[in-house]
Amino acid sequence: MRHANDTPPSPYVTGVAGRCPRCGGGRMFKGFLDLAPRCEACGLDYSFADAGDGPAVIVTLLAGFVVVGAALVVEVKYEPPMWLHLVIFLPLTLVVCLGMLRPLKGVLVALQYRNRAGQGRLEK
Ligand SMILES: [Zn+2]
Repeated sequence: MRHANDTPPSPYVTGVAGRCPRCGGGRMFKGFLDLAPRCEACGLDYSFADAGDGPAVIVTLLAGFVVVGAALVVEVKYEPPMWLHLVIFLPLTLVVCLGMLRPLKGVLVALQYRNRAGQGRLEK
């Protein structure tokens, strides 16, 4: 159990692990990408969290770089037939994208909590 004067857990560690950004204990997700309503350990309400399209954009850019780069290297070095490209790189694309989505969403939500990020509001 954490105490108020402990240093808070790293948003990167808790995010990648899918743990609560405040206590580092409870699970952040209830499904593959669905957030739980609140932390089961410390009760932190996750309704503040809105990563929006952030994880998908980052995954698209990174996976595109990795998979297209790998396909280019394989093509230049081995010149395999097109069907072999499809057999290798379509599943690789799926694995890379799905594998990165959840940790990235976790990190974005944890960073949002840490930095108290939210909608811009005008002072009254
Ligand atoms: Zn918690």
